[in-house]
Amino acid sequence: MLANFISPDTTDSRLGIKARYRMLVDGKSVDAASGRAIDRVSPGHAGVIVGTWPEASADDVGLAIAAARRAFDAGPWPRMSGGERSRLMFKVAELILANQEELAVAESLEVGKPIAQARGEIGFCADLWSYAAGQSRALEGQTHNNIGDDRLGLVLREPVGVVGIITPWNFPFIIASERVPWAIGAGCAVVLKPSEFTSGTSIRMAELAREAGIPDGVFNVVTGYGDPAGQILAEDSRVDMVAFTGSVRVGTKLGEIAARSVKRVGLELGGKGPQIVFDDADLQAAADGIAYGVYHNAGQCCISGSRLLVQEGIRDALMERVLDISRKVTFGDPLNEKTKIGAMISEAHTAKVQSYVDAGVADGAELLLGGTRAGEGKGLYFAPTVFSGVNSDMSIAREEIFGPVLSTMSFKTADEAVALANSSEFGLSASVWSTNLENALQSIRRIRAGRCWINSVIDGTPELPIGGYKKSGLGRELGRYGFDEYSQFKGIHVTLGRPAPWFG
Ligand code: NAD
Repeated sequence: MLANFISPDTTDSRLGIKARYRMLVDGKSVDAASGRAIDRVSPGHAGVIVGTWPEASADDVGLAIAAARRAFDAGPWPRMSGGERSRLMFKVAELILANQEELAVAESLEVGKPIAQARGEIGFCADLWSYAAGQSRALEGQTHNNIGDDRLGLVLREPVGVVGIITPWNFPFIIASERVPWAIGAGCAVVLKPSEFTSGTSIRMAELAREAGIPDGVFNVVTGYGDPAGQILAEDSRVDMVAFTGSVRVGTKLGEIAARSVKRVGLELGGKGPQIVFDDADLQAAADGIAYGVYHNAGQCCISGSRLLVQEGIRDALMERVLDISRKVTFGDPLNEKTKIGAMISEAHTAKVQSYVDAGVADGAELLLGGTRAGEGKGLYFAPTVFSGVNSDMSIAREEIFGPVLSTMSFKTADEAVALANSSEFGLSASVWSTNLENALQSIRRIRAGRCWINSVIDGTPELPIGGYKKSGLGRELGRYGFDEYSQFKGIHVTLGRPAPWFG
C-alpha cells in the first residue's frame, strides 16, 4: 500500500445516505413512468449504493419539455421584471449555502471527490447564483440615436426560449450552476439532464429553486442516460437551444443534430491544458500549481493542466519538486478531511486511464511515478502518475486522459513553448509560470485557449468568461458574455415623422 494512500473508511455513517431522488417536472417530484431507476455506487467505496434516481424515457423527457414550453410561452417568468427574477435567484444562492454540508456530502459520494473540495465547490456555486442574480436585473439592449434625424434604432434583448442543458459527471453542481442561473436569469425556461452517474445534487438544486419560489416549469430536471434522455432533449423541436458540456464525441453529435434543425447550440468540450514553466518562474509555486493542475478532481477536469512544458535549464530542478509533492499528496477516501485526490468516476474510465498509461510506456515515454491503480479493490483509485520524455506524437501528449497523469515535455525558447502549447487540437485552458509579466502576457496572447492563467491554474470567478477554442467548443459561459448565449437580439427600426414615399 502506498504511504500517501488513505484507505476508505467503510464504517463512516455518511455512507448510509442511500438517497432516493425524484425528477422535478413542472414543480412536481416524479418518478419515470416506467418505474425504472438508476443506482449509484460510491466510486470511493466498492459496492455501497449512495443514491438512486429515475431512468427517464423519451416520454418522461417530453413531459418536461412541455412544462418548460408552457412556462416560457404562457408563464410569469419571462414577463417578470429583472428585479423580481433577481430576488428569487438570490434566494436560491442563500438556500444553497444553508444546505452546503448536505450537498457537499452527496456531491462527494456521487463523484468520489474529496469532501473538503466538495464543500468549497458548493460555496462557489452559491457565488455563481448570486453573481447571475445581480447581473440578471441589469441586462439591457441598445439604442441607436445616430442613424438619422427621422430614425431611431432599438435593440431588444429577449430570452432565447426553452433551453436543454446537458451536463457531465465531473463537476455536476458547478457546471449546472454555471449554466442554469445564466439561462433563467436571461428569462429562459430550462430542462436540465445531468450525467447518469451523478444526478442527485442537480435534482436538489432544482428543489431548492422551487423552495425559493422560482415558478413551476422554469427549472425542470430529468435524469437518465444520454440516449434516449439527452438525445431527445437535443432533437425535440420545442427546445430552442441546447447547452452541452461533455466529450467531443457527444458534442459533435449534438452539433450535427442542432445543425439539422438550425437550433442554437453551446458546446463546452474537452481539453489538454498546457502548463508552460519558464526558467525565471518561482519553482516551488510552479511545482505546487502543476501538481494541483493535474491531480485536482483526480485529473478528471476539462481544464486540467495535463501537459507540462518546461524550459530545459530548469527541467530537473522542477521535476524533483513535482515528484516530491506527487509522492506525498494524500489520495484515497473521499470522505476523509485530509484527502486531496479522491476516486475515479467508474470502472470503465479507470481502465481507460490505465490503457493510456500503458500506451505511454509502450511509446517510450519515461514513467517516473505511479501508473497503477491503488486501493486493493476498496474503490476506484489511481495513483498520481508522472511521465517525462514525452513527445507530441504520443497519445499521452495529444489525447485527454482525464486522470491523474502528467505528461512532461521540454522546450528551449518561448516560440517553441507557444508552438507546443498550440499543437493540440484542443484550446480550453493554458497556464504560464514566469516572474516576467511581459513574457507571460506575450506568450498567453499567442496561445489559442479560452481560459488562461498567469502563475496559477484552475482558478475561476463568475465575472470572467469560460469556453473553448478549436475542438474545445463553441460559445462562452459566465460573466456578462454568458447571458448573450441565452439571449436573442431584435433590431427595431422606428421611423420618426412621415416616411419618404416609395411610390409617387
Ligand atoms: P459525455 O459526453 O459522455 O456525457 C456528458 C453528458 O452527455 C451526460 O449527461 C450524458 O448522459 C450525455 N450524453 C451522452 N450521450 C448523449 C447523446 N447521444 N445525446 C445527448 N446527450 C448525451 O461526457 P462525460 O464523460 O460525462 O464528461 C467528461 C467530458 O466532459 C470530458 O471530455 C471533459 O473534458 C468534458 N467537460 C468539459 C467541460 C467544459 O467546461 N469544457 C467541463 C467538464 C467536462
